[in-house]
Amino acid sequence: SSNGLIVSFGEMLIDFVPTVSGVSLAEAPGFLKAPGGAPANVAIAVARLGGKAAFVGKLGDDEFGHMLAGILKENGVSADGVNFDKGARTALAFVTLRADGEREFMFYRNPSADMLLTPDELNLELIRSAKVFHYGSISLIVEPCRSAHLKAMEVAKSAGALLSYDPNLRLPLWPSAEYAKEQIKSIWNKADVIKVSDEELVFLTGSDKVDDESAMSLWHDNLKLLLVTLGAKGCRYYTKNFRGAVEGFAVKTVDTTGAGDSFVGALLGKIVDDHSIIQDETRLKEALKYACACGAITTTKKGAIPALPAHSEVLSVLNG
Ligand code: ADP
Repeated sequence: SSNGLIVSFGEMLIDFVPTVSGVSLAEAPGFLKAPGGAPANVAIAVARLGGKAAFVGKLGDDEFGHMLAGILKENGVSADGVNFDKGARTALAFVTLRADGEREFMFYRNPSADMLLTPDELNLELIRSAKVFHYGSISLIVEPCRSAHLKAMEVAKSAGALLSYDPNLRLPLWPSAEYAKEQIKSIWNKADVIKVSDEELVFLTGSDKVDDESAMSLWHDNLKLLLVTLGAKGCRYYTKNFRGAVEGFAVKTVDTTGAGDSFVGALLGKIVDDHSIIQDETRLKEALKYACACGAITTTKKGAIPALPAHSEVLSVLNG
């Protein structure tokens, strides 16, 4: 178990998921509340596995916002970096996978509280104490949270934190695909560790190939580790000195929501106290195997947060 603090920055919201599958939003007889938001999931993933985590972001000063802050605390995640907006409400997302296989989305974000975090509201003391600072892209879409995001990254980096980036593209939230690409590229070179999914690799490179060449086209000089996740097939890793793959674990998949966040949280928990693991292929592969097991377990249960494993569950999968 680790002692170094992992600070995860960004959005936390509630996904409303239809109580029956394969219907359009309009046909849904009811919805279940599923707390989420990738950066919040990552923080909770870290804490479940025994690590130290804090979430930084803004929630509405409403029933949903206080429910979400409660979920952080129940899971042992520090909410010292959480602000509550007096006016705006907590972000909500209605998401369904229709019978025709198409995903349908509807968002309450006009603006929601998460978008209103200002640079002045950041808990700088907390951010400066991070050994790893993790973030996504949703907070880059609009001001003022974009400036808050950039400042938090800067502060964490100057204080010596490793910067971890998961672009976590949610295209329906962006005004355009071009704008999404531009914003993602604008912070690309700051990160020490980047994790992309195969779909994101395709989006960012503009080539439909998922191979070493396309992955390496995303490489930048200051990058220490690039990861490409491949769903059930595991992941590929790239560093300055070596590259390779880690196989996925065969499990009974029910719902893949949160697998990527679980994977990231697990890996960060492994490297937070010893960043040199990244330069040692044997130890890096071991950490990635652990992360793949976490991702796999997360797909065996519905939802993201309820499906994030404890350390003991991961060990039983690894010892299989
Ligand atoms: P993302 O959520 O970012 O798209 P993935 O779906 O690729 O990320 O999942 C992250 C990791 O979780 C994968 O690298 C893999 O190790 C594990 N994982 C994801 N889906 C499955 C699955 N169906 N079976 C087993 N492992 C999975």
